[in-house]
Amino acid sequence: MSERPLSILISGAGVAGASLALMLARQPGFKMQPIITLIERSPVPRTTGQSVDVRGPAVDVIRKLGWEQDIKARHTTEKGLAILNEKGKIVGYFPATGDVKAQSATSEYEILRGELTELLLDGVDKSKKEGVQVQVVYDEMIQSMEDRADGTGVDVHFARGKLQDQRYDVVVGADGIGSPTRSFIFGKDDKLEHVHPSGMYIAFYSVPRIPGDDEFWHWATFAPGLAIHLRPHRNNKTMGVYLTVTNAKKERNPELEDVVRADLATQKKYLHQRFQNSSCTWQLKRFLDGLDASDDFYMTHWCQVRTPQWTKGHCVTLGDAAFATMGVGTSLAMTGAYCIAGELSKITSPEEVPQALQTYQDLFKPFVAKHNVDFAFFPQLANPQTVWGNWVLHTIVWLLALLRVQKLAVWLGGGDDTQAWKLPDYGW
Ligand SMILES: Cc1cc2nc3c(=O)[nH]c(=O)nc-3n(C[C@H](O)[C@H](O)[C@H](O)COP(=O)(O)OP(=O)(O)OC[C@H]3O[C@@H](n4cnc5c(N)ncnc54)[C@H](O)[C@@H]3O)c2cc1C
Repeated sequence: MSERPLSILISGAGVAGASLALMLARQPGFKMQPIITLIERSPVPRTTGQSVDVRGPAVDVIRKLGWEQDIKARHTTEKGLAILNEKGKIVGYFPATGDVKAQSATSEYEILRGELTELLLDGVDKSKKEGVQVQVVYDEMIQSMEDRADGTGVDVHFARGKLQDQRYDVVVGADGIGSPTRSFIFGKDDKLEHVHPSGMYIAFYSVPRIPGDDEFWHWATFAPGLAIHLRPHRNNKTMGVYLTVTNAKKERNPELEDVVRADLATQKKYLHQRFQNSSCTWQLKRFLDGLDASDDFYMTHWCQVRTPQWTKGHCVTLGDAAFATMGVGTSLAMTGAYCIAGELSKITSPEEVPQALQTYQDLFKPFVAKHNVDFAFFPQLANPQTVWGNWVLHTIVWLLALLRVQKLAVWLGGGDDTQAWKLPDYGW
């Protein structure tokens, strides 16, 4: 091992940042000793969120890293997807396939985002206790940074004084769709250029479980462009609810953009009014009472991030900051983290950092590009604006379910792409 350590700063302790910190901490055969700093803007770990899953090459990642059983042990218990009309009548069932290579909309690795993040952060904490040089600092963020012209690293200035300003060999922006680090790296505020709207606004929260709730994901759509989803939690006490509002076009909706930026009370009030006045009669009172009472509510505009470059000099982006992708964002974040950790493990001096990060981009970008395509109007097709459109959607769903055409559900789950790209081997 080289005498000189490799200092790595990761901004954002979500799935991407926490996965990378843990993979760097555990990477076998690192040629330089990594010193890892993971910073998070929030003062406390953000361990909320509903179902996320593991698909494609990310299944091999969790197997290689020995995380598969821990993730399976936290499976949400979901058994499949049921599409409902606004009265709560089921129009079609699509069960989980049981095949990890062709998972349907319900994955074999459904896990609550909060539980996955907690699992990863606990692993980081354990590595620290075992002597790895890794620290997690909450309530801290980058104020500014400069990649030195002489290639000797990145000078970082912190905003909240929890950390001293210092130089790092590597800076990773894993701070989500609106990543400020991405703008620092590429020198401009690129939110409008690279963050592509889907037109779908989504709110996540939990409600108490009641008799009659089962292990199926229930998804009711109704005009105009509204939907309610109800998904099981493993704890048997709560269920996850998503409320979605989808525009007729893949565009930002000025009214909803204001709502997403507003405080929680305003967001809840807006959704309450919007759904209260809808044609939905399926458990509406329960979902709206639960909305008002929820303490894990989170609302966002579901966007896709497509950037031409993920790396520049000693800096790199990862996860939603680089390639937010509907349906497979968590899997891509974990696989990308695996590639960054693997490429950095091979280098023997900090001068090799830019090439290692470029290799991560070159090898992983073609795979991401297969998923990170234009939305192709999926949110709009799945959430019709009219009663007639809903009737057509439900008739198609009914027919596909009747004919046992499970391909729809596999397609919704991202398809089978395990053969499409070979996961690099980094000696795990
Ligand atoms: C609270 C929350 C709940 C979510 N719930 C769901 C869900 O139910 N279903 C789903 O499919 N997806 C959900 N997501 C998104 C999902 O986690 C991601 O799409 C995916 O896992 C990739 O994760 P990521 O780490 O790249 O991004 P994120 O999960 O967005 O994590 C980014 C992290 O960076 C932090 N951060 C932001 N700005 C800064 C800054 N300037 N400095 C330091 N840290 C910063 C954020 O607080 C966050 O912890 C949620 C995200 C969040 C933050």
